[in-house]
Amino acid sequence: MNTCKGICLGLELKKFNGKTRYENNQKHCTQCNVFIDCSEVRCPCCRCVLRVTPRAGKYRKLFQERKDELRY
Ligand SMILES: [Zn+2]
Ligand SMILES: [Zn+2]
Repeated sequence: MNTCKGICLGLELKKFNGKTRYENNQKHCTQCNVFIDCSEVRCPCCRCVLRVTPRAGKYRKLFQERKDELRY
């Protein structure tokens, strides 16, 4: 079971005022309910899959790579 370990609190993005949060590689963890800046598919805190904006078609590739992630 994925649980928040508090690691995300140190990664949380709080400096964005009015800007689209999904810009600049930001992703949302629904489990921790935070926006973090990371290049990984999964949250470094709870390991659940991070959400990205549906408009960013290039991120679809990341979801396909999840298959590889599952091996870990
Ligand atoms: Zn967390
Ligand atoms: Zn998380």
